[in-house]
Amino acid sequence: MLGGIFLTHLHSDHVVDLNNILVNGIYNGLQSVEKIPVWGPGNRNALPPLFGKGPAPSPISPANPTPGTKEMTELMVQLFATDLNDRIFDNRKPSPAQLWEGMDVPVPEKYLANPNGAPAPSMEPFTFFEDDRVKVSAILVNHAPVFPALAYRFDTDDGSVVFSGDTARCSNLIRLAQGADVLVHEVIDEDWVAQLFPEPRDEASEGLYQHLLQAHTLKTEVGPIAAEAGVGTLVLSHLVPVVQPESVWAACAKGFDGQLVVGRDLDVIDVGK
Ligand SMILES: [Zn+2]
Repeated sequence: MLGGIFLTHLHSDHVVDLNNILVNGIYNGLQSVEKIPVWGPGNRNALPPLFGKGPAPSPISPANPTPGTKEMTELMVQLFATDLNDRIFDNRKPSPAQLWEGMDVPVPEKYLANPNGAPAPSMEPFTFFEDDRVKVSAILVNHAPVFPALAYRFDTDDGSVVFSGDTARCSNLIRLAQGADVLVHEVIDEDWVAQLFPEPRDEASEGLYQHLLQAHTLKTEVGPIAAEAGVGTLVLSHLVPVVQPESVWAACAKGFDGQLVVGRDLDVIDVGK
């Protein structure tokens, strides 16, 4: 039963399955309680800065180069209009307008003033969704030049879970995760990055090298982050690269007394009592 979708940021590796869930899933048996909200960051409202020297490339979709979650979801419906109309007319399926709705997480305006002002401004978590089962809060994290990039906290009567999304070490995230039962946190193996991009690096490889180290959390940092947040269980997610042996990630327990889980697809993690 699907009650909602929460996107941390709009990098393609985090949204590529959205159509699979919404169109192929719902039209092929995936159950939902009612219309499914698809929450995520709003419009960036500015292109990222150009890395390196030389003339700027032409942006994609110059009239609106950085659509947010609500716009992206609406554009996705347009993109698949041929298929969706076929289902609505020929198969008498309900319209997407009855099935799901893109929603921009309402980050307080004052924190959105400078999309290129990394790191993300220091702030308190804010709650944007609450029903009788779950309270959902968010905070900005450091995944520059991606902005807004969000982390989420889900509080229920049975326990609490925090998802870091993609982020470098971030004090906002540690604030959001205080005392949570489970922290699902991204991690990157900095030794692998150094091997992948040996010196000397050209402009393109220097750009990617810098992005990987400055926009993600190093394996030596993630254990101390979990300890500082005081969480019970740390689940490593978004392992970069995923092919590393288990021993590389097991080392992330250093500095953390709780339970460490090296996350794998389709894992089920217990929460609370
Ligand atoms: Zn990302």
